[in-house]
Amino acid sequence: MAQRPYIVGNWKMHGTRAMLAEARAIDRAAERLLKAEVALAPPFTLITAIRKEAGLIGVGAQDCHAADGGAHTGDISAAMLKDAGAGFVIVGHSERRADHGETDADVKAKAQAALAVGLGAIVCVGETEQQRDAGEAEQVVAQQLEGSLPREGNAAEKVTVAYEPVWAIGTGRTPTVEDVGAMHRAIRGKLRDIYGDAGSAVRILYGGSVKPDNAAELLAADEVGGALVGGASLTAESFLGIIAAAAERDHG
Ligand code: PEP
Repeated sequence: MAQRPYIVGNWKMHGTRAMLAEARAIDRAAERLLKAEVALAPPFTLITAIRKEAGLIGVGAQDCHAADGGAHTGDISAAMLKDAGAGFVIVGHSERRADHGETDADVKAKAQAALAVGLGAIVCVGETEQQRDAGEAEQVVAQQLEGSLPREGNAAEKVTVAYEPVWAIGTGRTPTVEDVGAMHRAIRGKLRDIYGDAGSAVRILYGGSVKPDNAAELLAADEVGGALVGGASLTAESFLGIIAAAAERDHG
């Protein structure tokens, strides 16, 4: 049976308790949520409150440290996230890779830490504009997958891949539907190389300037199992527009 599209909102470094009303409004749209699986990744400070007040949607974090605990001032462990109410964590977002110099090996260690405590992991990959222009996009993404994906045990069941071309994040620009489909097919092939048959069931999300008015066509591209949404997830109005487009998608 086809999986429901998975729509995840990444609030990045936005949100105080004043934004809980948006999370509640998203949660209340239960009728639409039945046809799409919906989750929010708010800042750490809102995880517990959103878990408490928004019972239908998933709640996750935007990063974790690879270690169980220790002398890492300002960091947060996967176990702490789980304790706060998170069900998953995003790792390897391009903003983390750029702002904090995270390597594929770092991303893999974080994903392993998440899985070890029972969290799901959304592993982000994506090429820069320069790499796309040089015709290297698929090669770069394959390399990132090779280096970033955890392999132990039933990793394939707990991992989601988010393809986010760096040049499309927050820019209002998106790849063509054909380019999205081609990249997602290439990612599927790589997932089968890495996980064998289990790689066929790993969800692959598209992320990068998804909005209510382009969601339907992006979500209809080959092998797209949902979307990772930044800016347009910050208000219930725009995020619900994307969820509605996902829910109407013919994924039978
Ligand atoms: C993101 O940061 O994961 C993202 C996709 O951002 P935006 O939707 O704003 O491009």
